[in-house]
Amino acid sequence: MKTLILGGTREARELAHIASGERGFEIVSSLAGRVRDPLLPEGPVRIGGFGGVDGLRNWLVANEVTVVIDATHPFAGTISANASSAATDLGLPLLHVRRPGWREQPGDRWHRAPDLDAAARAVSELGDRVFLTIGRQGVAAFAGLTDQWFLIRAIDPPTGALPPQHELLLARGPFSPADELRLLIQYRIDVLVTKDSGGDQTAAKLAAARSAGIPVVVVDRPELPPTAIVAETVSDAWKWLRDIAAPRS
Ligand code: NAP
Repeated sequence: MKTLILGGTREARELAHIASGERGFEIVSSLAGRVRDPLLPEGPVRIGGFGGVDGLRNWLVANEVTVVIDATHPFAGTISANASSAATDLGLPLLHVRRPGWREQPGDRWHRAPDLDAAARAVSELGDRVFLTIGRQGVAAFAGLTDQWFLIRAIDPPTGALPPQHELLLARGPFSPADELRLLIQYRIDVLVTKDSGGDQTAAKLAAARSAGIPVVVVDRPELPPTAIVAETVSDAWKWLRDIAAPRS
């Protein structure tokens, strides 16, 4: 049984690690190739886009893939939709691995935004010194905010237009709540912007914002198709994969 794991996340690496060690499972992981120095999963890895749905479908056929696991980041909406189309066309089982989103807690001052443009509009009302933690992509949505100053944190430098007043901080999590709070104080941040990525790797900034009493603009996730099969944890995903394999072994 040959499984393609669409990756770029910790969950994808963990699943590749578990499945690679098991007899009867042939795993190949796929990365988009956006990060200069990616954390590589165990086992075979291919890197780079497939060329849309057609390219992905062709690749799945050429490589005799029988199962697809979309363990990409919750905000990687295009590749998730492509995986859904290609798997449906070929009649392949497809699982989406999606860690749960973050939950607002007492003391939080969250403002939900349906997308990055809405987040930029919210920021213009909420603060002057912005901690922008949405990753490398999508920063251009904030480029028109000329009155605000931005601390932009990403693993690699952002692409596209940037807000005129900014400082770039290149760093990869996990981060501790104490360090996040120190950043907020050092840069006199009065509003935080984040995607609702979920997970514990980058959640410390939310605790820090709570301690500092500052508002947080939380960007909602793109939706999966209503018929999607979803696992919230790596162990549930592994159970699904074993169940798929069971009748064939
Ligand atoms: P996206 O917008 O959904 O995808 C854009 C294009 O990138 C896709 O059409 C596909 O190109 C290619 N692609 C994306 N993921 C791929 C993968 N795992 N393997 C091969 N090609 C892939 O994705 P994105 O938001 O740019 O994210 C790119 C990668 O970074 C993903 O692997 C994701 O897990 C990871 N990541 C994303 C975020 C985020 O906030 N978006 C955060 C952390 C990690 P083709 O159409 O040519 O196939």
